[in-house]
Amino acid sequence: MIKFKDILKESEDLDTLVNRKLLNIVAKKFDLNFRYDDLSNPLIDQIRRSGIISFMEETLALDYQQIAELCWVIFLNGSIDYLTDSIKTDETFYVYEVGYYGEMGHEEVELDGECGDCDGMGTQNNDCQNCQGSGEYDYGEGEVECEDCGGGGEVENDCWNCEGTGIDYFTEDEYYLADNTVIFYSNEPDLDKPIKEETNFEKWYEDNEALLIPMVDRWEDTESSFEETDFEDTEGTVNAYYPQGDISFDNIRFRTYFRNLIEHR
Ligand SMILES: [Zn+2]
Ligand SMILES: [Zn+2]
Repeated sequence: MIKFKDILKESEDLDTLVNRKLLNIVAKKFDLNFRYDDLSNPLIDQIRRSGIISFMEETLALDYQQIAELCWVIFLNGSIDYLTDSIKTDETFYVYEVGYYGEMGHEEVELDGECGDCDGMGTQNNDCQNCQGSGEYDYGEGEVECEDCGGGGEVENDCWNCEGTGIDYFTEDEYYLADNTVIFYSNEPDLDKPIKEETNFEKWYEDNEALLIPMVDRWEDTESSFEETDFEDTEGTVNAYYPQGDISFDNIRFRTYFRNLIEHR
């Protein structure tokens, strides 16, 4: 049963004439039919990309608390007639932060290191070309000490490989996994819990898709390795799963999991 004080509280909060008029302006200017099930294009990104948030800030000169409140009402109601229809002002969702690794990629990187041919010295001792390494040479008057190598049979040359620098350059394939975090809202308080570094994210998403609203995502923290095998087992798996509890307009998570996502991106 809906209590009278709840109706009063809701109407005090967001269903005001001012909000209705502002939302009517926004609805006339923008298409408010957003998609609630597009993992590659999460909802808040759609709202942001439409230009609604900057329009509210720059043209309507609203502060971010007001902008977040209006976006919340748009999120709950979509494309309705904001002057005449009844407006839903609150609903409880559950917030889930889910992290997963992307597909393994690789790129060729140039590295430098100690030259393997001269052990980083830059020089090599070669057999003297003049005396063929014997240290002696017959200049026509019998064998004498070779002038080129001073009798040692060897001469020091710049290393043929690194040309005397002692440093060698080479390329190697570096493998990487990008790390993605998605914030979902759901009406379900207890989703199937994925197993970290085991459950395939796409499979988990498909299994729970009907229950999930992708709100925002962010790619970061690429892990890299020269060993392809380091990532074979973790590619595409869930790496973090944090159920954050319920969110509604009047609880603490409205600030952290709605307003902040609208304001700070
Ligand atoms: Zn010599
Ligand atoms: Zn060398």
